[in-house]
Amino acid sequence: MAKKYVYFYGGGKKMTDGDRTMREILGGKGANLAEMCNADVPVPPGFTVSTEACAVYEDKGSYPKEMMQQVKVELAKLEKLEGKKLGDAKNPLLLSVRSGAAQSMPGMMDTVLNLGMTDKSVKGFAEATGNPRAAYDCYRRFIDMFGDVVMGPYSTLNHHHFEEALTKIKKKYKAKQDTDLTAEQLAELVDDYKAIYKKHVGKPFPQDPMKQLELSINAVFDSWQTERAVKYRILNKITGLIGTAVNVQTMVFGNMGDDCATGVAFTRDGSTGEAKPMGEYLVNAQGEDVVAGIRTPINLDEIVNEEDQGLVKAGKQLLKIMAKLEKHYKYPQDVEFTIQQGKLYMLQTRNAKRVGLAGVRWAVEMATGVDQMTGEKLPKLLNAKEALMTVQGSDLEQLLFPIFDAKAEAKQTPICSGLPAGPGAAVGAIVLNSDKAEQMKKKNPNQKLILVRHETSPEDVGGMGAAEGILTSTGGMTSHAAVVARGWGKCCICGAGDLKINEKKGTISVGGKTYKEGETISLNGSTGKVYVGEIPSESSPIVAALVEGNKAAKKHWIYKMYEVVSEWSDKFRKINVRTNADSPADSKNARAFGAEGIGLCRTEHMFFEGDRITDVRRFILADTDKERNAAIKKLLPHQRKDFVGIFKAMDGLPVTVRLLDPPLHEFLPHTEADMKKMAKELSVPLSKVQERVAELHEFNPMLGHRGCRLSITYPVLCEMQTRAIIEAAVKVQEKGTKVLPEIMIPLIGTKAELDYLEKIVRRVADEIIKTKKSKVKYMVGTMIEIPRAALTADQVAETAEFFSFGTNDLTQMTFGYSRDDIGSFLPDYLEEKILETDPFQQIDESGVGQLVEMAVQKGRSTRPKLKCGICGEHGGEPNSVKFCVRTGLDYVSCSPYRVPIARLAAAQAALEG
Ligand code: ADP
Ligand code: MG
Ligand code: MG
Repeated sequence: MAKKYVYFYGGGKKMTDGDRTMREILGGKGANLAEMCNADVPVPPGFTVSTEACAVYEDKGSYPKEMMQQVKVELAKLEKLEGKKLGDAKNPLLLSVRSGAAQSMPGMMDTVLNLGMTDKSVKGFAEATGNPRAAYDCYRRFIDMFGDVVMGPYSTLNHHHFEEALTKIKKKYKAKQDTDLTAEQLAELVDDYKAIYKKHVGKPFPQDPMKQLELSINAVFDSWQTERAVKYRILNKITGLIGTAVNVQTMVFGNMGDDCATGVAFTRDGSTGEAKPMGEYLVNAQGEDVVAGIRTPINLDEIVNEEDQGLVKAGKQLLKIMAKLEKHYKYPQDVEFTIQQGKLYMLQTRNAKRVGLAGVRWAVEMATGVDQMTGEKLPKLLNAKEALMTVQGSDLEQLLFPIFDAKAEAKQTPICSGLPAGPGAAVGAIVLNSDKAEQMKKKNPNQKLILVRHETSPEDVGGMGAAEGILTSTGGMTSHAAVVARGWGKCCICGAGDLKINEKKGTISVGGKTYKEGETISLNGSTGKVYVGEIPSESSPIVAALVEGNKAAKKHWIYKMYEVVSEWSDKFRKINVRTNADSPADSKNARAFGAEGIGLCRTEHMFFEGDRITDVRRFILADTDKERNAAIKKLLPHQRKDFVGIFKAMDGLPVTVRLLDPPLHEFLPHTEADMKKMAKELSVPLSKVQERVAELHEFNPMLGHRGCRLSITYPVLCEMQTRAIIEAAVKVQEKGTKVLPEIMIPLIGTKAELDYLEKIVRRVADEIIKTKKSKVKYMVGTMIEIPRAALTADQVAETAEFFSFGTNDLTQMTFGYSRDDIGSFLPDYLEEKILETDPFQQIDESGVGQLVEMAVQKGRSTRPKLKCGICGEHGGEPNSVKFCVRTGLDYVSCSPYRVPIARLAAAQAALEG
């Protein structure tokens, strides 16, 4: 049997081939259209050409042979069901052709509406509907979309050519809006459009509907690889998709009069999270009029007040269906709908995008059934486990973002305001062009920018990504800018109508004042207000409550929601979450965020502080052991004091301390002036400093004299650090606080390296414990960050009591990519799909991950209770955390502010099973 490439939907459950589980091959849109048909939601019927056909097209450059044949079969089915024929002179069937991959990519692929319009069928349509105006309106829209979307990439034709003709004819007949044009005037416009088409494409507008369909399917497939689509996927880390599906669907008409409308809606508010439907619609309009911001859309709340009773009835039905869909999908939905002469059709549903706050609020409210702001009752849709699975690490991360200092903001007068499309606070320099924004950010990653545009389109995604916030002068809450920004959790204000943008001059003006590119503005994405200058921002209530000890913040509803999510996370997760912290202050913050120990305390940071660096340098310059010992001795009390502070702050939780790791040259000055200063401070000749700096120069310092190698050359270093750790532990424990020091030896590649230093550590530690008659228990372990250590982990574990995977170095050495230099080629690697993600951000499971798995297994074959953890950057990245759970690590460790995210990811991994 031939492979199935085309799936029918509509005509009830019996005739529908797909369902929501089939998004991989039907795409999200297609799978959900089928699912809605199964659930008896009114959907215009049609069929979906699978992503598998797109994959063949990508691969071979042409359709699979069977595909077009199957399209014809399903089309015949559709014609029969609808009682209309494509291209018919009496009662023509019109179609929409819509793209849709497994993951939604707003605005990435274009839709063609009213396909099947020809000189012949337009008359049939006019006759059958008795509405010649709608007939010619549909025809001219079709020529425009077909010309722009389907033929645009292969000719000089684009939407603006048609737009010009439309403006001209509106002027000619003094029509204010598109809807003011009569049937005759639109027919005249159709002729203009056909001429424009012919001029640019070099061929007349195709009058064979099958040809129109075939070319449109082609265009959808081709759009999969356009630059903007590829870029969107990279920016959003969308990987592993085989292509887009094509949804061919019976047209319904929102443009047949004042009892017609088209719109988009959300079952809950995607920026505040409020459990109240919101949306926008346009009367007598079609398709993308709403999104394009051509006319100002009407708030969905108003639909019940419409004069036309058909609209009112359809509006009420819409709200019911939205509630039903939310319940069905167990998640807030983002829907598209059209009302044709009082009859409602659903054109799309999908899980709604939202900012972090809304994501957390939705989860908590769907599970508790209580509005978190007002205490009102809501439907319970999920249990705690299901709800927790809907929260993303980035949601929690956003809740920790700063917001404007309320008092400082109140003192300022906004220069203008728009729609609060993406909440949070953003401050940055005005930039009016997306490419420019991208380049500026590339040059200076610390540059804070606000992208200001008339409106945004998919071409702007790069610039939007580079900016802290986005400000547009047109467009609504569902415009491109709004949808994309919300998806990213970015601050965004849309439709600031008073704003005049002059890209050529590089200025914006509002209220008679002009501001230049480069000037700083502040956006409050939660209220839609725009200010000139920088407004100081204020911590999030969570940070205020946990880090700043603000008692009032603990009563804040956002903080309370955070607590609910935290509670769930801790209830379901099975592994520990520790933190990477080098100071008592960081340790305290991390504990407030729920850390259960320190997984990595880097001691080198302590070497830089205050005047300690002088003694470190004395140590480095020393010629004799005596000089070296003297210098090191001076460092001892400082280190000991730091450890006392950290052990106290961790109050009985385990603390892994890593012995000195970086190459010594990092502690020496590099400019002549600084060397002079150092020579003077240490009362040595400049030449001596210069010589030592030259001596310590290494070609590959990251592979050079660092880690355990330092202590093997200078055992006194290891002795001093052990002494500081154990003496501090003894002291703190004497005062009644339990201490669990874990001494970690970095960068070993052979068991012998570890053995050499372990002996030193134990000799020093045991002696102190014995002399002080202390009961302190300590452990000695190692970091696994050199592939050889992972390969010989069974041997290493004979000595090591614990492993901590230093996945930054392990990734660096497994790939052979220098972490600090990867920036120069990573973008190419991602673009060409040589790498799917940055391996320094998300652990490379098949390579580096294999080493981790192997080391855990081998290590535990020697020492069954071997404690294993991870302390690289990956410890706070949700996908990597999930990997760690699957691999059987005992804990992950990450920076303090990522601890809540790691706790969440650990719980989700446990629930995923
Ligand atoms: P996108 O993925 O960009 O949202 P869609 O395929 O959803 O693109 O189409 C965009 C718009 O076109 C829809 O919101 C809807 O208004 C209109 N549209 C699509 N299919 C139909 C149809 N069968 N009948 C009427 N309008 C349609
Ligand atoms: Mg859509
Ligand atoms: Mg390392």
